[in-house]
Amino acid sequence: MRIGIDLGGTKIEAIALSPAGQEIARLRVTTPRDYAASLDAIAGLVRELERAAGAAGTVGVGIPGTVVPRTGLVKNANSTWLNGQPLERDLAGRLGRPVRVMNDANCFALSEATDGAAAGAPVVFGVILGTGVGGGIVVDGRCLAGANLIAGEWGHNPLPWVTPDEQPGPPCYCGKRGCVEAWLSGPGFERDHAQHTGVTLSGQEIVGAAASGDAGAAATLARYHHRLSRAIASLINVLDPDVVVLGGGMSNIVGLPEATSALLPRHVFAVGASSDPVATRVVRAAHGDSSGVRGAAWLWPASA
Ligand SMILES: [Zn+2]
Repeated sequence: MRIGIDLGGTKIEAIALSPAGQEIARLRVTTPRDYAASLDAIAGLVRELERAAGAAGTVGVGIPGTVVPRTGLVKNANSTWLNGQPLERDLAGRLGRPVRVMNDANCFALSEATDGAAAGAPVVFGVILGTGVGGGIVVDGRCLAGANLIAGEWGHNPLPWVTPDEQPGPPCYCGKRGCVEAWLSGPGFERDHAQHTGVTLSGQEIVGAAASGDAGAAATLARYHHRLSRAIASLINVLDPDVVVLGGGMSNIVGLPEATSALLPRHVFAVGASSDPVATRVVRAAHGDSSGVRGAAWLWPASA
């Protein structure tokens, strides 16, 4: 059996998967805002899952940050009490077995590439469109970490092919302007609508208004489709993935994968004629919010 842990900023989710990927059990606790207590909580969840299943399992952990291979220390976690800590080593010591730790967006991509919407595809780009915008790359069933441990982090690249009215672009918390995240996150979508219409609505309200014929909301949604399509086209021009999987709260917008796909030929290099369509498929995540914790479990593949 495989155990996956999703160590989030507010909750820790744990799942036990059968060898075939069936969910055996799932647990959830509030994240302690303290390193030692987080280790205790994870060890407790593993013990409880193993008691429930009557079997031992491999353990993979997804975190909102990365582990530096050279030092084994966590960096870039927005759960700041994890930063600088040897999480993999400490968990292995408590659990008496090796533990694998990976960035949570990479876990999302791994889950969808293993038995989700991109199952079996050779090259998969997993995109998170939520409060922030992140991503992960899976090649032949393995996460691509990258030399700087930022492979797939497209959220702080600039939005490509900007129009004059999109310049210089909205400010981003990273200090730059016009980042993909500043345009395509949930808050970015809401800000864009407010700027164009003077009306402040939630993302869901904007989508609902567009569906019931509100011209301003429909225009906001159309701008979102165009921007997402441009941003994905620019990464297709570099990575050329077989499948782009959309996850996170914004991916639930009805018709988003289809609308994005339809616009890709405008910017993907040297395709677009009906005889030469874009081969990359854009799809919605199959496992929804469960992809992070499932992908953590898949950090131990069948061959391991
Ligand atoms: Zn940024």
